[in-house]
Amino acid sequence: MNILVTGGAGFIGSAVCRLLVQREGVRVVNLDKLTYAGNLQSLRAIGDAANYIHYQVDVCDEARVLDILRRERIDTIMHLAAESHVDRSIDGPAAFVETNVIGTFRLLNAALAYWRELSGERQERFRFHHISTDEVFGDLPFDEGVFTEETPYAPSSPYSASKAASDHFVRAWHETYGLPVVLSNCSNNYGPFHFPEKLIPLVILNAMHERPLPVYGTGSNVRDWLFVEDHARALELVATRGRVGESYNIGGRAERTNLSVVQTICDIFDEKRPRAGGGSHRDLITFVTDRPGHDRRYAIDPAKMERELGWNAQETFDSGIAKTVEWYLKNEWWWRPIREKSYAGERLGHAVAA
Ligand code: NAD
Repeated sequence: MNILVTGGAGFIGSAVCRLLVQREGVRVVNLDKLTYAGNLQSLRAIGDAANYIHYQVDVCDEARVLDILRRERIDTIMHLAAESHVDRSIDGPAAFVETNVIGTFRLLNAALAYWRELSGERQERFRFHHISTDEVFGDLPFDEGVFTEETPYAPSSPYSASKAASDHFVRAWHETYGLPVVLSNCSNNYGPFHFPEKLIPLVILNAMHERPLPVYGTGSNVRDWLFVEDHARALELVATRGRVGESYNIGGRAERTNLSVVQTICDIFDEKRPRAGGGSHRDLITFVTDRPGHDRRYAIDPAKMERELGWNAQETFDSGIAKTVEWYLKNEWWWRPIREKSYAGERLGHAVAA
């Protein structure tokens, strides 16, 4: 089975590649443009495995994508390539429209042309799996409701609007042209190899260096958290066993306020690495001006994944976050070059993290 993973040098894509190369009879073709968020070092564990190859290609380049689909005789596309950081989407939405909307449209065109060239069993087993976010569903009240697969879309940020648009295009290519698609919408991921502009790795690295720990507003926004390797296993199931035309919500049943996430990390550091001058790492928490259009709460009901595909998250938030802190403590070789290269003078976490 030949699987094309777009965005395979990113945070979640690299976890998917690291998982799939271990599977008997699977060849992994990683198509990644290598933006600031792409990092081949996250794939170092794969080494020079014979069943893995990387192409540095933009998903918007329809002709090259089609060429790769043919040359590599692809059976399944797992589309993760995207601009993924909400704060960047507020400062510069154009890149989000370009990659997330137009890139997905171009990839769909290439996939459809390729799928139409296939026949028999190969055409039958082809799948286009679009990986998306729970942010497309928009804002939930603090104490009410969860997102199901039937929840109407109501995106708030340029990022979530671009992902919602791409979800709609993927469904339209199924309804209109018959392309065999599956979709999944997942809550916030965390874990090893997470780019240090996102909340959890930023707070871990700042806590490590006793720098301020930035928290938006009052820290009361609630997110559901899922360990990235649990997400990678879920994605493999959706891609290989999901029903065509269906979407699946993936989440960790682990709702936390942002403040409690940061406090948990502080408590781990207090135990593992007490501050030299005494006091708690919690004293480093700094409340910063809230993000515009910041949704209060996202909450996922993963019952369909559990029922239909037999998937469950293996990590609780407490076990996953402990593993994550441990990983950052032990893997400076990975984060040090990123932190030194890309942090100077950028806003929010970047400024305080520098
Ligand atoms: P990421 O930013 O870490 O990685 C994105 C990858 O895509 C990078 O390797 C980048 O080089 C590549 N890329 C970007 N533009 C490209 C282009 N035009 N052509 C080819 N490659 C390109 O993102 P992530 O956190 O790993 O997220 C992966 C996917 O999962 C995204 O589609 C995102 O919307 C979705 N998602 C993420 C989360 C999360 O918590 N991180 C949650 C739910 C869904």
